[in-house]
Amino acid sequence: MFKNVLTAADVHEFKNWMTWADRFVILTHTGPDGDAVGSSLALCSFLRDKGKDAVVIVPDQAPDFLSWLPGFKDIHVYAADSGVCDELISKADVLCGLDFNTVSRIAGASAGFVSSKAKKIMIDHHPYPGPDFDLTVSHPELSSASELVYHFLCAMGQYKSITEDIATCMYTGIMTDTGGFSYSSSDPNLFIVVSSLLDAGVDKDAAYAHVFHSWSESRLRLQGFVLHEKMKIFKDCSTALITLSSGEMEKFDCRKGDTEGLVNMPLQILGIKMSVFLREDSERNQIKLSARSTGSVPCNRFASDFFGGGGHLNAAGGEFNGTLEQAVARFMTGLKSWKKSTDDSIRQLFKQQ
Ligand code: 5GP
Ligand code: MN
Repeated sequence: MFKNVLTAADVHEFKNWMTWADRFVILTHTGPDGDAVGSSLALCSFLRDKGKDAVVIVPDQAPDFLSWLPGFKDIHVYAADSGVCDELISKADVLCGLDFNTVSRIAGASAGFVSSKAKKIMIDHHPYPGPDFDLTVSHPELSSASELVYHFLCAMGQYKSITEDIATCMYTGIMTDTGGFSYSSSDPNLFIVVSSLLDAGVDKDAAYAHVFHSWSESRLRLQGFVLHEKMKIFKDCSTALITLSSGEMEKFDCRKGDTEGLVNMPLQILGIKMSVFLREDSERNQIKLSARSTGSVPCNRFASDFFGGGGHLNAAGGEFNGTLEQAVARFMTGLKSWKKSTDDSIRQLFKQQ
């Protein structure tokens, strides 16, 4: 039996907003991934089916491997069209923040978001939800914001409104945030959700192929280059580091999304418990950090302690203003300071294998 983490009382206020509000703007985080886009499009499609004027705004372009999702072509990209996006935000009755826990994660759209008088709801699964929302629906125990949207719609009594398109968007978000059901996915309840999405008509093999088997030749060659030339192993710290400069990414004709998943690869090595990826982001003129870990090793603390970021226990990110070399130096300083930590979850990295 499906166990809903939300109750009718939890969604009562949003249901009330739906009785008077017409214009809904859904925002999600910078560097939008499958869950950000999937959960946002699912909610948007639901609201449109109910006759609402609903749009999705992403801070920057979502990767091509998500472009097949129903509704993708209608997404507004703030970085490309800030004037239109600011107007949409300022005219909204309700602003919905999906898959992020703090407004800084929506980059350029955050000023308009904060100053707006609209009702604001957060629907998210990251720990430590921040302020700036009237309603906070935060469930870090769930696999994804997409799974939470499913709970949300069911708690609103809208199970029957889940169309094939809505289900496909939610399924894709769950599939990507669990690495194709390989992590964050041990709760039997999640598979009841998935079962019901398949019932609604999701073609799971097509979703997998679109997302995971739609690589360009150069992306696969980039992966080979990274693993051969760019991966450093710090055995005594059970940690791996990958770096990529703008020049290296240009050489491999690197497109948006082409570096996705690289950070997970070193965890395939026996004994590696944390993997860090530092890449130059020429668009934002900074260094982007991605981190992954296994078990109770808190890579989100590495991201927040040394790169001003955060995220989930086992999947986190951050940013660094400076050169790639300086970011690597920060990483080294971070590892060195963690070596002295007395925290058991951190100490696991430095135990002899
Ligand atoms: P990714 O490595 O796939 O970009 O991000 C992994 C996780 O970390 C995601 O849940 C994402 O929301 C979070 N994350 C990524 N970058 C940042 C960041 O700069 N700040 C914070 N607080 N979280 C981030
Ligand atoms: Mn997510």
